[in-house]
Amino acid sequence: MRPFTSTISFSDALRLTLEAVIPIERRETVLVRQADGRVLACDVTAAVDVPPFDRAAMDGYAVRSADTAGATGEAPRALRCRSRIFAGEVSRQVVEPGECAEIATGAPLPPGTDAVVMVEDTSSEGGTVLVRVPAAPRQNVGARAGDLAAGSVVARAGRALTPAMIGALSAGGVEAVEVYARPTVALVSTGNEIVEPGRALGPGQIYDVNRRTLGALVERHGGRAVPLSGAGDSIDELGAVLTRACTHDIVVFSGGSSVGNRDMVLDVLRARGEVAYHGIAVKPGKPTAFARVGGVPVFGMPGNPTSCLSNGYLLLVPFLRRVARLPAWEPRVVELPLARAIRSSADRHQFFTVRIEDGRVEPAFKGSSAITSMADADGYVEIAAGTSEIAAGTLVRVTIF
Ligand code: AMP
Ligand code: MG
Repeated sequence: MRPFTSTISFSDALRLTLEAVIPIERRETVLVRQADGRVLACDVTAAVDVPPFDRAAMDGYAVRSADTAGATGEAPRALRCRSRIFAGEVSRQVVEPGECAEIATGAPLPPGTDAVVMVEDTSSEGGTVLVRVPAAPRQNVGARAGDLAAGSVVARAGRALTPAMIGALSAGGVEAVEVYARPTVALVSTGNEIVEPGRALGPGQIYDVNRRTLGALVERHGGRAVPLSGAGDSIDELGAVLTRACTHDIVVFSGGSSVGNRDMVLDVLRARGEVAYHGIAVKPGKPTAFARVGGVPVFGMPGNPTSCLSNGYLLLVPFLRRVARLPAWEPRVVELPLARAIRSSADRHQFFTVRIEDGRVEPAFKGSSAITSMADADGYVEIAAGTSEIAAGTLVRVTIF
């Protein structure tokens, strides 16, 4: 055994981790309909005017506004209706003075007209339409390019696309966009006892949790999870998988990062690269390391599932989002009273998992080894080092994950 002789604070660990960020440069072209959440690598301009023509914004009658001046209920203006235009149709028939055209929402205005009177302000008898209110010029007309002009910037480089931006790009006739590639994150579970879920468990074996939890987290935060096959607790196996993993943008190992005789991840990282830190004064997640191997950032997460996932949220997510050029994740924070007292290790900053029940904060943390410490929690309360107990009833800030 090789016990930790020193640890660094969580804030130092986060700082050292983020110092290693190199934003991704790789780009790819993706279809707009598959681009939600992707980060644009270039400004994108509209290919067409939106709308591409002046169009009716209401169902009613396209008119020459001057023809309707002074119209009232008592003294309506009578116009001769000679055509009917539905959306998708173009009428080239000029509407002459004293005439109008029936028109549907979205249909192009016929030549000669400059306004639309809504059907509710009219009545029709045979081929004659009685207009009861005067129409102002351009009234109920969606102007060509009023939404977006061809050639104007629809979305700027560096923006993460949203459903609404996908809508604007589609309206502007853009089919594909150039985005930054999603960083690939190689995930390696280490440990002789770890078995892929789906197989039968042998004696002493357990199912792999960490590659799955980290995989889900990575996919949520702009990365592409690449689960590699696991590695047993041997220098040779760890070294071989590290070589394969380092072809990716980010590498995350779990397990074998602690101080036991079979914990050899650090030996391999030290032999192959530079270790920025090993050991964080945080609970859960103390035996966490961060290194660079041939320029590739490598996290050595603890094997305990809650420790691993907790540091996944706290260290990997901020790192990954910066590499992916995504804005920082801003989880929701709520302030509520503690239902019962919670105790914490005074020597470490703790991220204490909790549940929110009936507007009160219930402890959920069972221990770092229990995945249900997080699976049955809504978020966490941060307890600074030096504090060993928070009394029932205290208002605490819960970060929802
Ligand atoms: P280690 O960090 O290798 O000392 O592992 C600490 C604990 O976490 C041990 O009980 C391991 O069996 C367990 N563990 C390690 N890796 C995983 C994993 N991928 N999934 C679930 N449990 C794990
Ligand atoms: Mg182990």
